[in-house]
Amino acid sequence: MSLLSVVIPSYNEEKNITLAVHRLSEVLCGVGITYELIFVDDGSCDRTYELICEASKKDPAVRGVSFSRNFGNEAAIFAGLREAKGDACVVTDCDMQFPPEVIPQMVALWEQGYEVVEGKKSSRGKESASHGAFARLFYRLVGRAVGMDMQSSSDFKLLDRRVVDVMNSLQEKDTFFRALSFWAGFRTATVEFEVAERINGKSKWSIGGLLKYAINNITSFTTAPLRLVTVLGGMLLVCTLVLGIQTLVRFFVGDAVEGFTTVILLLLLIGGSIMVSLGIIGHYIARIYDEVKNRPRYIVAHRTEEVTAHAADS
Ligand code: UDP
Ligand code: MG
Repeated sequence: MSLLSVVIPSYNEEKNITLAVHRLSEVLCGVGITYELIFVDDGSCDRTYELICEASKKDPAVRGVSFSRNFGNEAAIFAGLREAKGDACVVTDCDMQFPPEVIPQMVALWEQGYEVVEGKKSSRGKESASHGAFARLFYRLVGRAVGMDMQSSSDFKLLDRRVVDVMNSLQEKDTFFRALSFWAGFRTATVEFEVAERINGKSKWSIGGLLKYAINNITSFTTAPLRLVTVLGGMLLVCTLVLGIQTLVRFFVGDAVEGFTTVILLLLLIGGSIMVSLGIIGHYIARIYDEVKNRPRYIVAHRTEEVTAHAADS
């Protein structure tokens, strides 16, 4: 009998935990899958972890760990994958925006021999036009870096034990789960699903947060921005040649006094592009620095096993 692990990162989701346990158990029991639910409390400030503990006392299929502080969704996903004991692993959200009804379809594909089943959003749900355009541009860039079409991809996936082991063996700290499963390869199938509205609480994304996320993920998959610096330098060199010749010609013709505007513009252009290039290089150095420090990417403070063991003792 194979075991399915469901990994659920949760950050300030006190209103959703009980609901998530209920809906997931209902769907998975309904199709007779043996499962475990692994909640990863990402340093929530509300009662999320208490509720996870309560759920795990009631239902032995529910387990959970709690981080010492907020380490982010990615760290929570990877902690969950590490905790998972199943032969296959589904990663989903605590807010039930990824419909649990899709999981049995994923499992069916896995049983047919697919090692990765990607959840693909059939529509992107409600979002502003600018947000949508930004997301498309971002996925085009990352998709090109990974060499796959990543439009409408999501964190909702099923991974076979083999792929989970690959994920667990990755050394890098700054990961982008959504693209890493593409990068890993394996036999891949997709299922489409409709993104549900968030019922309780609100999304944790701000525009600044999204931008940082985008930049980090693009630079974690491609060094194209570095090549861009070279291209920029090349373009400037061409401009220099043209303007250089023009300046020399004018000098010999004898009307070289004018042209102060050109000097100002050139100074600004060169100064600006040097600073941007330094910024890009600096960003990569910062990432090397972060990886080299080799700190753990999350710290587990508590486990529900402690709570259940304690309850059994007393
Ligand atoms: N999440 C997390 N840590 C964070 C932010 C979010 O573990 O720092 C979890 C959150 O509880 C949810 C999932 O990641 O289960 C997706 O977050 P959210 O719903 O805010 O994102 P959205 O669905 O809007 O992309
Ligand atoms: Mg959500």
